[in-house]
Order: sequence, then structure tokens, then C-alpha cells
Amino acid sequence: MRTVRTVRELREALAPHRRAGRSIGLVPTMGALHEGHLSLVRRARADCEVVVVSLFVNPTQFGPSEDFASYPRDEARDRTLAEAERVDVLFAPPPEEVYPEGFDTTVTVGGLTQVLDGHPERRGPGHFAGVTTVVTKLFNMVAPDVAYFGQKDAQQALVVRKLVRDLDIPVRIEVCPIVRDPDGLALSSRNAYLSPAERGRALALSRALRAAEEAVAGGAVDAGAVLAVAREKLDEAGIEPDYLELRSASHLSGVDRVNGPTLLAVAARVGGARLIDNVVLGEGVDEREPSPAGRSDES
Ligand code: AMP
Repeated sequence: MRTVRTVRELREALAPHRRAGRSIGLVPTMGALHEGHLSLVRRARADCEVVVVSLFVNPTQFGPSEDFASYPRDEARDRTLAEAERVDVLFAPPPEEVYPEGFDTTVTVGGLTQVLDGHPERRGPGHFAGVTTVVTKLFNMVAPDVAYFGQKDAQQALVVRKLVRDLDIPVRIEVCPIVRDPDGLALSSRNAYLSPAERGRALALSRALRAAEEAVAGGAVDAGAVLAVAREKLDEAGIEPDYLELRSASHLSGVDRVNGPTLLAVAARVGGARLIDNVVLGEGVDEREPSPAGRSDES
């Protein structure tokens, strides 16, 4: 595995592969690698002849009151993990390589970036502008055939798909399933902020999603009823969510019924960590007829 820090070195490392017509897969990360990241790397390794992992804690996607300074960083450990997964190139640029003096361009995606985490009272659309700017740069730097993202950041994955579609960026986007600990907690670099007691409380997020999933499997379709089932699990743990919302899984438009693929997304602060999680409900019910008047959606 080669570790490179500049765009020039990166392009030099990839040039012979590109000349030989080898497929290149990119896994963009902010480091502090865990099994969630490694699942993307393994998928890239299985699909592509050359695997590039980027490690970059992107300052522009953090708000001024967010955890940029304290975000976990351990490049040596990340390097060992990446090497064990047979990554070919680790791209770990310093901030000035990505944002040199005079850098003043932002890529913004419309339509999906004002809701959920993009809501102005939450991380805000600036968060996604930071993400889409750095992702566009990474796509231009690496020019991968395929790029791998996690469903853990469901809104981000939709935004990146839209970015690529709207700007005709020649890369295929693959979105990989959420990796969880056996007790249900979605893996996240930010889980490192949780004390053992907070980690216990954080389980309420996945419990809430699972309860909603069970309610839908049991026939519930009314958004209010499904949200109430999830909300109860958060309440039991004393968690007040930043949001707990049902939205269409493709466009993030608001829904009042689970009638077709519907994203149930939650964000909540637990101790010092802001955690997000989600599940797609109703994947098998897009053919479902509207329920007859008077039918109860509660189960
Ligand atoms: P991050 O380092 O948090 O920016 O994440 C890098 C990539 O890994 C993103 O595409 C995330 O969605 C993905 N990822 C993070 N956590 C998980 C997880 N638990 N399961 C699957 N993918 C994940």
C-alpha cells in the first residue's frame, strides 16, 4: 500500500493503472476507521482492480460549533487497517492540499439539502455544501470508476447520487448497508465519544427504528402511528431527538403514509456525541392499495 499526500503523487500512483485500463474504486472517509468503513473497502476490493481510500477530516463540512477539532484521528491505526484490507493507495492529504490559499469555490446540490441534517436549525445546508465540494474534488483527483458510500449517511448518499447525476460526473455510486454492533448500535467514529452508560442509552436509536420496522411489518402505514412507536423507545431512554422523520427514500419529500420505500431517519445528541441512524421501511409495499376508510393503521 502506498500512502500519498498530494494530488500530484496520487495521480502518479494511479497513472500506470489507468494506462493499463484497470478499474479504480474510491472509498472516501474521514478516518478513525471501523467495520462500517471496512465493509465499503471490502466491497471495493471485490469489485475493482485498484482500491483508493481517502482519509481526510474535511473542515468545510463541520459547523463552527461542531467537533472538527476533537474528531478522532489516528492515521497510524487507519494505515494498518487499510493495509490489512489490501488497499492499494491511501490518500491522506493535509488540509492545505485540498484547500490551498485562495480556494473559493463551493459545489451545492439543490433539492435534498434543506431537510433533515440540512435544515437550517440543524447542521444546515452548509454541511452538505462542504460534503459535495470535497466529494467533487476527490472525484476529480482520483477519477474513480466506482465510489462507495454507506447507507448510514442516507441523506449524504442521496445527495452524492444527485451531484453525480446533475453534473454528469463519470463515476458509479455504490451505497452499502449499515454495519451495526451485535446489540444494534450503528458503527460511527463518533461512538468513541460515548461513555459506557451513554452507549447503553444510544441503543434506543436502533431500538426505535426496529420497533417502527416491526410496526410496519405488522401492517401499520400511518406516519403518525409509526413515528409514535419509534418515539416511545427514545422517550424510554430519555432521548429528545434532533429529528425523527419519515420521508420518501428517493426524494426525501414528506410523507404521511408508509406506502413504498420510506426513510425513517433519526438524529439525537447522546452525551457528547451527535448520532444519526436510519432504516428504509415499506420496501415491499409499493404496490399497497390505499387502506379503506376507517381501517386502523395501529397494530
Ligand atoms: P465517515 O468517515 O464518517 O465520513 O464515513 C465514510 C463512509 O463510511 C461514508 O460513506 C459513511 O456512510 C460510511 N459509513 C460510516 N459508518 C458506517 C456504518 N456503520 N455502516 C456502513 N457505512 C458506514
